[in-house]
Amino acid sequence: MSTGPVPQTERVPVGVDPTRASIARVYDAFLGGKDNYEIDREVRDGVLTEAPYAEHLAIENRDFLIRSVRFIAQQTGIMQFLDCGSGLPTAENTHQVVQRIRPEAEVIYVDNDPVVAAHGRALLEENDHTALIDADIFEPDAVLDNAVVREHLDFTQPIALLHIGTLHHYEGPADKPAEIMRRYYERLPSGSFVSISHFLDPENEHTPMARRAEDKFRHSPMGSGSFRTLDEIRSLFGDLELVEPGVIRLADWWQDGPRLTPLNEAQHCIAGGVARKP
Ligand code: SAM
Repeated sequence: MSTGPVPQTERVPVGVDPTRASIARVYDAFLGGKDNYEIDREVRDGVLTEAPYAEHLAIENRDFLIRSVRFIAQQTGIMQFLDCGSGLPTAENTHQVVQRIRPEAEVIYVDNDPVVAAHGRALLEENDHTALIDADIFEPDAVLDNAVVREHLDFTQPIALLHIGTLHHYEGPADKPAEIMRRYYERLPSGSFVSISHFLDPENEHTPMARRAEDKFRHSPMGSGSFRTLDEIRSLFGDLELVEPGVIRLADWWQDGPRLTPLNEAQHCIAGGVARKP
């Protein structure tokens, strides 16, 4: 692990500790972005030695975010999106995907990473329908009662809640993520949608790769990244109505066309789905 000085070429925003890996920056490193430091790339490289193709966990995840958000914007008429754990800005961000289809839609991003805040605020400066708040996404009441959330979102109308690539970073009791999501669902209006993705233990010949990656993530300076089974991931949706085809590998969730190449190992190890609150 590197604890030496940060090279001059890496500009560090005020308040950011470049000697500690961050989830947002490690994810950015996996996606080939530039908003990461040496310590983050070391986490990425450590995982890649144990789990080749692990960058496809991030690639599949991001593709699913774009597909599921586009689906919700196009097909449900929902005009308000709450993106929990939004991550660093990348090629296609939630508000861009949504507002291309529904220009007046409100998009609220929630993240607690100071680098995300620095980049996000700059990106959103000229967009009246989009805001970024600093809150703990594992505290539903704190998110839903946030003043900016209350100002932008109308809780008498359906809301699209995104928890994409977030819940596997909760490091506490194993059954707590389902409880956290239940609290969100209790407070969302009827007709709301949720999109969730999560690292998957596929309980087959790819389980060893999932468990090796998990071990590397959790024992790295980033410190989180749990792989759950399909049943466990399904439980994150509580009693909501799952949209077809249910909770499955992201690689199989309404792809843009036929698959021409076999899945790599990492593509077997991330799953999710979309559901509606009746
Ligand atoms: N949702 C984006 C996507 O799928 O492309 C980004 C996923 S990234 C793996 C997870 C994000 O969740 C990071 O940006 C991280 O800072 C944020 N995050 C993790 N724990 C959080 C917490 N307790 N409160 C707020 N944000 C958190």
